[in-house]
Amino acid sequence: MRVHLTAPAAAAVRRGHPWVYRDGIADGGGHGSKRGEGKRGERAHRGGAAASGDVVELSAEGAPFLGRGLWDADSAIAVRVFQRTQAPPLDERAIAERLERAFALRDGWFDGRDTTAYRLCNGEGDRVPSLVIDRYDRAAVIRLDGDMLAPWLDRLLPHLARALGARGVRSIGLRARAQAAAGEDADGKKLAHLHGPPLPDRLFVRETGVAMEVDLARGQKTGAFLDQRDNRARVRALAAGRRRVLNLFSYAGGFSVAAALGGAGRVTSVDSASAAHASAQRTFRENGEDPAAHEFVTADAFDFLEKARARGDRYDLIICDPPSFAPSERAKPRALGAYRRLHAAVARVLDRGGVLCAASCSSHITAEDFLATLDDATLERDDLRIRAIHGQPEDHPTLPAWWEGRYLKFVVLE
Ligand code: SAH
Repeated sequence: MRVHLTAPAAAAVRRGHPWVYRDGIADGGGHGSKRGEGKRGERAHRGGAAASGDVVELSAEGAPFLGRGLWDADSAIAVRVFQRTQAPPLDERAIAERLERAFALRDGWFDGRDTTAYRLCNGEGDRVPSLVIDRYDRAAVIRLDGDMLAPWLDRLLPHLARALGARGVRSIGLRARAQAAAGEDADGKKLAHLHGPPLPDRLFVRETGVAMEVDLARGQKTGAFLDQRDNRARVRALAAGRRRVLNLFSYAGGFSVAAALGGAGRVTSVDSASAAHASAQRTFRENGEDPAAHEFVTADAFDFLEKARARGDRYDLIICDPPSFAPSERAKPRALGAYRRLHAAVARVLDRGGVLCAASCSSHITAEDFLATLDDATLERDDLRIRAIHGQPEDHPTLPAWWEGRYLKFVVLE
């Protein structure tokens, strides 16, 4: 099927942007009828005849062939672009070759001892749009964004089993999509088995030498927030000699255990989910740290900060890594307000001389936007400087034109 793009959508595809939104498709008429496709052709222009997973050829005014992608009948992104050259054809072999390239890069980045959990394929960023694969030691977990690759999974699985098996991965599972509550089974499990021995519900992996429990069956994302690996190592280095550390939105305690192992006296983890604390405590024990020497608070972070300030509690290292406040461009103004309120409250419990690590995982909030929520007026302080601004690690690659992929900001203020 051929899909004719508007001029702006065609320009984005030329730059290497991997998404065509539905409004980037030119309505029927014009080129379709010129080719004598008549009524059927016009319908196909808008994708009316296509099913999710169908290969589509992209064209635009003056460009009979722009590239090739896969059609998604339901999501706002109508086409994810895989190729901008005529050869090779877009089939499972072409996709398997891209995957092999992604896996081979990781072979060079990770030694398989200190770090046994990492992203094997970052979808668009590895030029395999919509396909995310995370490795947790001997298990690999697949997540699909959108529907276009679902019909391809059966054909891709033998390639995946071979390429991953050669690297020590025994089991492959599929994570239900975040939006699809229907993907959970009766036990609240969000993981379906695809290949190999059954996947464990929970397991320990290693991250930069630190043990970390991952809840494959019920945890967030594919089980863990692998994108913070390098930042957790940075927190470990920052923690030496700190008396009181506060980790807000602590989830399974990745930053908390990093701080404890780095030499912090007492680490307070705050999350609204108590199951996350149970996991964090098992991770502390696995690393030889006594959880009783630290504090795990099940609370709303904003409430906690209010009470901590009232009590006069102060911290000399604070990590603040909330869930995305801006899932869409429209939500941006409200999200900036929420970051501002959060950072103002955090600044009130940060000691003079303390370090604040503030993170944002929303691609709609640029680094400059985010820094504006940490300025002097917001924090009501004039003693802090930006020590470093970090992002996501190399196993979460992006493309120059795909700004949406660069979502993680990790700002260290001191
Ligand atoms: N820093 C973590 C990831 C944080 S994910 C890591 O490195 O692994 C966001 C976490 O915030 C989730 O665990 C969620 O339960 C928690 N959360 C969401 N809203 C919250 C709120 N208002 N107060 C406290 N925790 C909240």
